[in-house]
Parts: sequence; C-alpha cells; structure tokens
Amino acid sequence: MPPSLLPDNTKLGLGALLINGLDVAEAASRFGTPLQVYDEAHLRARCREFVAAFPGGAAYATKAFLCRAMARLAYEEGMTLDVASGGEMTVALAAGVPSGSLILHGNNKSDDELADALRLRVRRIVVDSRDEMNRIRILVQRRGLPAPEVLIRVNPAVNVMTHPAVSTGQADSKFGFSIRSGEAAAAADDMIADPEFRFRGVHVHVGSQLASLDAIAAGASIAAGFARCVGAEELVIGGGLGVAQTRADRVPSVKAWSAAVNATVRATGFEGTISAEPGRSVVATAGITLYRVGTIKNVPSGRCYISIDGGLSDNPRPALYGTAYEAFLVRCPDPGADPVIADIVGKNCESGDTLASGVRLPRDVAVGDLLCMPVTGAYVHSMSSNYNKLGRAAVIFAAEGRARMVVRRESMRDLLATDVFDDATMPPSPGLLRSASPFATQPNN
Ligand SMILES: *Cc1c(COP(=O)(O)O)cnc(C)c1O
Repeated sequence: MPPSLLPDNTKLGLGALLINGLDVAEAASRFGTPLQVYDEAHLRARCREFVAAFPGGAAYATKAFLCRAMARLAYEEGMTLDVASGGEMTVALAAGVPSGSLILHGNNKSDDELADALRLRVRRIVVDSRDEMNRIRILVQRRGLPAPEVLIRVNPAVNVMTHPAVSTGQADSKFGFSIRSGEAAAAADDMIADPEFRFRGVHVHVGSQLASLDAIAAGASIAAGFARCVGAEELVIGGGLGVAQTRADRVPSVKAWSAAVNATVRATGFEGTISAEPGRSVVATAGITLYRVGTIKNVPSGRCYISIDGGLSDNPRPALYGTAYEAFLVRCPDPGADPVIADIVGKNCESGDTLASGVRLPRDVAVGDLLCMPVTGAYVHSMSSNYNKLGRAAVIFAAEGRARMVVRRESMRDLLATDVFDDATMPPSPGLLRSASPFATQPNN
C-alpha cells in the first residue's frame, strides 16, 4: 500500500499495522469492528498545515467528520469551524469551541438556527438566499438580537470536474446568489445598506474532491472580482481540495492549492483577507476503517464476494458517488503473485452494497481476517446510517501507542432510543396509524 494512502505515522508489515504506535489488530479485538482509527498526530499536522498556508484563516468544514474530540482538536490547532446545521453547531459548542470561532452555513437555515447563531454571536453567518435575509431582518428587528457579521455566498457559475452530487458552483446550483444575473450584487448592496447586517465579505465554494486547481482557481477568481466590486474585506474560497483514494489518483498539495488561490485572487486586485475551509483534505487520509471478514463466496459467474461486518450503512460513498477504495489484509498487506480478486461487500440488503471492487487479496484470505480500508476519514462516519438497523461504528484516535475512544459503537439500545412504541404516546388523530400497524394493534386485541 503506498504510504501516501495511509496515515502519516503508519508502520506496515511483518503481520502488523501500527498507527501512531497503536497495533490496530489489538484495537479491533478490544473495540470490535467495524472500527474507524484516526492518527491524531496526522490530524493535528494537517490542521497546522492549513493554518500556515492560509494566514487569512482556515476553517475546518465539520461535515467531513465531526465529534467533540475532532472539533476540539481543530480549534486547538488554530482553525475556526464551519457548521451547517444546529446539530453541527451544538457538537462544536459542546466541545468547548467558542461561538466566536463558528461560521454558520446552509441553504435553508431555520429560524431557530439563525436565532441561536445571532444570540451566540457566531463569527460569521454565510447568507445564502433572500428568504434568509428576511428571516435575519425579522430576528434582529423584532427580537432585538444583535446584527450578525455576514458573508454572501455567491454562485460563480463554473463547472468543475467532480461527481455531480458534490459540484456546487455551477450556474443552476441550489447554493448562493448568482453573480452573473446580478442577484449577488443586489443582495450585497442591500446587506451593506441595512443596519440588520454587518457585511464583511464574499464566500464561494465550487465543489468537493477536486483533483485540479483550475476549477477552484476559476471560482476564486470570479468571486474575488465580485468581492472587489462590492468593497468586501474578506473572501472565503471554500474547500474542495481532493485526496487520493487509490494508488492511481493524483492530487495537488496544500501548498500548491494556497499558492494558486492566492495568485488568482490577487490578480483581480482584491486586497482583503483570503481564507479557506478544507474538510476532506484535513481528515480523509488520517482515517482508516477496519472490518472483519465474515463470509467468502465464489459465485458461478466466477466472482468472489468477501463479506465484511459493515457496508453501505457505515460508508455510503461507493453507492452514492461510485467512490473507489483500496483494501488490504492487516496480517498480509501484500497480495502476492497469485492474488484472489474480490469484491468487498457489506451486510446491507442491497446489491449496491459494494465497498470496493476488484480488490487483490492474498490467496489464503480467510474468515476472521481483518481488512483495512484506507482513506476513509472523510464523509464516512458523518454520512453513515442505521440502514438495516446496523449500529454505527466506533471511532478511536491513536496517539503515542494508545487508543482514545471518541465515538462509541452504537448499541441495540441506541437503535431503540428514538423508537416510540407506547399506546399512551401514540398521536390520537390519525387512527390509521394504529390499525395500519399489526404490531400496534395486537396488544389490544
Ligand atoms: C463541504 C464544504 C466545505 C468543505 O469541502 P471539502 O471538499 O470537504 O474540503 C467547505 N465549505 C463549504 C461551504 C462546504 O459546503
């Protein structure tokens, strides 16, 4: 496995995989599988790298991976935090991150989310629509909440080479105000003129998992030109820097990214601060997922299915975006000269539940083997679900040979925690609800 696909502090070989000194096979026995393991030193180093590359500021986009330990770590290393919902805001605050270090995003922020953000005086609100402007006005005027410092999310109308689901800067995107149509300029003018807003600048984010700097630079350049026109003090160029998922992938470095952004933005004459909001590129490669092989099946077509104890419920990215992953056996990372070529599938009840196809594993791969999938630190745990009522995986941070559990595995009790099954609490009006459910009516009959 190329070192570039593994956490910084990985030792691989001789039957063991050590991450930051932690023997992951031991960790898997102790904490169970599926298990996500992050190299804490790698996370910290990556945060510091972004802080150094963007003197104007670097915000960690929490949606890539969020728990209190992660929020705290990014804050300790000098980053501010992007949150895109009341839930993400709650986790960050619960980690002791001050509200003044939070930036609130979202294309449909609720009254409650906005009111909390205003009351707590978050660092910035990134305004995305006229409806949101109206909601903020009403909250400031009628509830006497403090006027927020705002950025305007603009749509630069650029098409980027990535999966359509994570392209956000094309002309018909749901995000932001169109520069081309003049809506962005009109909205910025209104916010500059209205006392309910303290206008600070412009925000653009063209997409995620981008392998070429051209797209990010194109979006940044258009937004910078706009920022200059409206007299903005600051420009946020979003995230989007891609990561290598497989040995075939090539991506730019953090340095190359910041250099390209700086050069294109300054070329427009914009003189304010430039900041960035990386998510994936902070956490993706720092994390691996461990699975236990449970079933090996050779079907008549010749295909070999290796079933592991997770699936699209803990990592929906292959099913959603066709993401390709590498995988290897912890006890024998080298597949050897005569490998088995297998599809790694999960235990979810769908044929789309394939985590990796055409993976080469040693011929003697066996039930009980521990399988490692690298580069699963971003948009994996945060996108996981309880599909098929599987509990979400546990997450540990590895530091100096020790494991620190930061998210515990979901239990059967957790799976029932929000399930309401008590006649006394059933809503009275839709009587249909009762009779439609054989389980609800049975006890009364
Ligand atoms: C998702 C997102 C990011 C982070 O994107 P990555 O590709 O993970 O770096 C940054 N800013 C905004 C507004 C986002 O929605």
